Amino acid sequence: MKENRIDWDETNLQILSSMCRKCPEPHFQPRTPELPQIGCCAYEPVFTLFEIYKMVSSGEEEFFLHSIYPNPKNTVYDYEIIAGGNIHPLFYKKQPGQTETPYERHESLKKSVSTAYLAVDERLGYTMCQFFEEENGCGLPPAFKTSICRSFMCCSIEKALTEEERVLLDDWRRRIREEAETFHRKHKEVLQGKGISLGGNVLDIIGYLKQVDG
Ligand code: SF4
Repeated sequence: MKENRIDWDETNLQILSSMCRKCPEPHFQPRTPELPQIGCCAYEPVFTLFEIYKMVSSGEEEFFLHSIYPNPKNTVYDYEIIAGGNIHPLFYKKQPGQTETPYERHESLKKSVSTAYLAVDERLGYTMCQFFEEENGCGLPPAFKTSICRSFMCCSIEKALTEEERVLLDDWRRRIREEAETFHRKHKEVLQGKGISLGGNVLDIIGYLKQVDG
């Protein structure tokens, strides 16, 4: 039986693709054979108020408070948290025939506005999301995955889709984005009005999210 190229997981509102098992996207191929094949999971997920609400409302506030919030790799902003990735040691090693390490290349690329995006790519080439498990893929409960993680499909997969599949993909993406972004925007405004933020009053944010209806 022919496998779908993309599928919709209604329980967790996420888009899945069987093509990810053998990532076809040139941009995400490991730069050297020593690096693991992780596809797009080099990215560092950004938890918004929506994902924090999902953790709190499912009784997993301890997971948020002990594993996400204090993790030194993570950057806590007022209303979102960037989960820093694991950098492979090869980022700091010069490869045979090269005059600089990827880290040194990254540092010089980020100095200019016109090459800053290349610096991001250079670092991503050696980064692995902290939740990625080499044998199993994403180790985060699907309900806590960010809207980007639940909706991202690379160019290679998009190009392989039929017109009908593309329409479905757009609809699913819209649904994911609307739910997460609307929630985040609405509650960020309320919390700003109350003068509480993740940096200063994390327990107040948890208390607030506990009494939210969704
Ligand atoms: S949270 Fe999961 S899906 Fe998202 S980048 Fe990390 S490993 Fe991949």
